Amino acid sequence: MDRVYNFSAGPSMLPLPVLEKAQAEMLNCNGSGQSVMEMSHRSKDFTPIIEGAESLLREVMSIPDNYKVLFLQGGASSQFAMVPMNLYTEKKKADYVITGQWAKKAYAEGKRYGNAREVASSADKTFSYIPKLDKSMFDPDADFAHICMNNTIYGTRYTTIPDTGSVPLVGDISSMILSQKIDVSKFGMLYAGAQKNVAPAGLTIVIIREDLLGHAMDITPTMFNYVTHTENGSMFNTPPCYPIYICKLVLEWLKDLGGIEAMEKINIEKAYMLYDFLDNSKMFKGTVVSEDRSLMNVPFITGNEELDAKFVKESKALGFVNLKGHRSVGGMRASIYNAMPAQGVKALIEFMKKFEMENK
Ligand SMILES: *Cc1c(COP(=O)(O)O)cnc(C)c1O
Repeated sequence: MDRVYNFSAGPSMLPLPVLEKAQAEMLNCNGSGQSVMEMSHRSKDFTPIIEGAESLLREVMSIPDNYKVLFLQGGASSQFAMVPMNLYTEKKKADYVITGQWAKKAYAEGKRYGNAREVASSADKTFSYIPKLDKSMFDPDADFAHICMNNTIYGTRYTTIPDTGSVPLVGDISSMILSQKIDVSKFGMLYAGAQKNVAPAGLTIVIIREDLLGHAMDITPTMFNYVTHTENGSMFNTPPCYPIYICKLVLEWLKDLGGIEAMEKINIEKAYMLYDFLDNSKMFKGTVVSEDRSLMNVPFITGNEELDAKFVKESKALGFVNLKGHRSVGGMRASIYNAMPAQGVKALIEFMKKFEMENK
């Protein structure tokens, strides 16, 4: 069977060479006589896998030594609660920028445990832009400020990191991790569910500055306390072994490709092929202001719901799957994460041109 071009927002495509390597090693990984799924997480066969994944992540993302890297479960959604539970001090104050559904969900958890405040929001225009932010808008007394770096549903991203002064900035990077350079030192903490750009679902990556650890709220469950995991090398309990293994293979693939700089260049080329087409099309239109466009998620519409539905149906029949937009935006969305080849984007554009001709 031919593989499709999968434009899903997540879980999404994995690089073909990674899947092939995993397939080749499925029954017998590294001469262990077993698959990674069957190994003890404390065995000498698994140790190099988790240690290799961490050191490669540190290398490709240039993570400074004073940051811990954790491989957790629970998805980015668990981080919405873990962040306030661990980062609130006595003050229990935090600033949230509301740029979409995920940012809103994070904010709701911040409010459950303390005084979370909305700094700015782009809800007035269906989250089609990133609000203009400056340092004076942030509370200098807050325990942390939270942003969602790439808004998966709406297709916006921050192109500059807001200046919050000495207040630690927390970034949800679920849908842009490994897609472009990030200056980790500008953040107190970063987190990401792995299923968009790193691995299968089940793994959550946390990168946290050491000085932010150690004052979790009393009510924090043991499993939700970062220190539980920093003190045990992400092995307090059984970690998501197979996703960590795939994460390592993805990082090896990325490194071979030239690292994040090379990946970012490819991602810009891919995304702007599509944006240039949208800007010149008479039928299709992007929904995001041009300066805040995501490199990973590209929503677009025809302006006619019937035509949108026809497009999604016909594209699917040709092997371009999961192009239907999120129900809150409508239309279409092409998620073009690291593993989507440029050829997939080119083929989609060719189909869009043909569809436009045929449906004038
Ligand atoms: C997908 C996504 C989430 C939710 O991730 P889970 O791992 O499913 O909890 C959170 N934030 C962003 C930006 C996402 O894209």
